[in-house]
Amino acid sequence: MPILIKNGRVIDPASQTDRISDVVIDDGKIAGVGPDLSAPGAEVFDASGLVVAPGFIDMHVHLREPGFEYAETIESGSRAAAAGGFTSICCMPNTKPVNDSATVTSYIVERARRFAVVNVFPIGAITKGSEGAELAAIGGMKAAGAIAISDDGRPVMNSLVMRRAMEFARSYDLPVIDHCEDLHLSAGGDIHEGLLSVRWGLRGIPAASEDVMVSRDLVLAELTGARYHVAHISTRNSVAMVEYARRQGLAVTCEATPHHFALADEQMAPYDSNYKMKPPLRGPCDREAVLEGIVNGTVTAIATDHAPHAGSEKMQEFERCPFGIIGLETALPLALEMLVHPGRITMNRMVELFTTGPESVMRLGRGTLAAGAPGDVTIFSTNVPWSYDVNQSPSRSRNSPFHGRTFHGGPVATIVNGAFAWRRA
Ligand SMILES: [Zn+2]
Repeated sequence: MPILIKNGRVIDPASQTDRISDVVIDDGKIAGVGPDLSAPGAEVFDASGLVVAPGFIDMHVHLREPGFEYAETIESGSRAAAAGGFTSICCMPNTKPVNDSATVTSYIVERARRFAVVNVFPIGAITKGSEGAELAAIGGMKAAGAIAISDDGRPVMNSLVMRRAMEFARSYDLPVIDHCEDLHLSAGGDIHEGLLSVRWGLRGIPAASEDVMVSRDLVLAELTGARYHVAHISTRNSVAMVEYARRQGLAVTCEATPHHFALADEQMAPYDSNYKMKPPLRGPCDREAVLEGIVNGTVTAIATDHAPHAGSEKMQEFERCPFGIIGLETALPLALEMLVHPGRITMNRMVELFTTGPESVMRLGRGTLAAGAPGDVTIFSTNVPWSYDVNQSPSRSRNSPFHGRTFHGGPVATIVNGAFAWRRA
């Protein structure tokens, strides 16, 4: 059945649209955008007072399947994505087995086709087993549906391996996404190295562990001409280096997570594992630099790094529990709270960070409301108060520091390939 979305504020950065308008979706595709549209037999959705945007893309999630289905599955993760307003998600390869071959890539594509409620795009590993030694079967993974390569979670420490990976990725026209962390500098660390790590008696992860890797990678990106993307950027120096590289004309981009622009280390609840992630929450100056990067265009995309962990894993002592938090359902409300409501960026720019931004890196053929584009639409409110109850999440995991937080505005409905994938009850 066609869908007719009436009277929403339609924001489509790809076509520089921002006006009250109707949207018709038919046969899985955007059929038209304009005033006073009609569509016989269509289901009508009244979007008065709401924003209607191209479906949001999250280019960095962990779905944990295959191998860690107790923490998340492709189905449960995709449902959390739909509830967060995302219509497309790109999943990192650190599953078990690691997605380092066409076989695993095909498995994920097939499971997603059967069980996911949003579009799922697998990211292949850079190296076999993400062990940093031998390159993975990049061509085969691409043929099976991989849209980028990354060893997220386990950085490629060997610079020669990284150089070869970039050369291969360039010839296959795939972006290389790096989790930038020098493992020697960060070894044993739990939180950002600073006053708090000293006060709480925890080992620190210095900002330098990220900066060193970003600088190496930028040198290699220039050498190889690869499309290179910094995952979850978190430090002042990294933002400055990416800004510099972009000014030199390199094909370099970066993403920021909502937790890194919403929180600094000083906002952490002491020894609460829901504040433990990599990179760690940094100092206030780093957070401010990430915010500034979002404002000035250095940051191309907002990505959640949704990292589900079972309660039993996160309930351990702080030093023992794994890194990462879930984030699909709190990304849009945090972007509204931290970026749009205080007037740091426009609503248009925020939509860009969730649509054309990640699309420019991942090239999924999505992120626009142009006629004929896939029927992916995100509808959200901008000021309706609500509070986030993590226990209602479709995710299998509960590791969020934002449980109980009151937001103003958030997802209302998510349409994927022309059908409702989720609506706020
Ligand atoms: Zn990572």
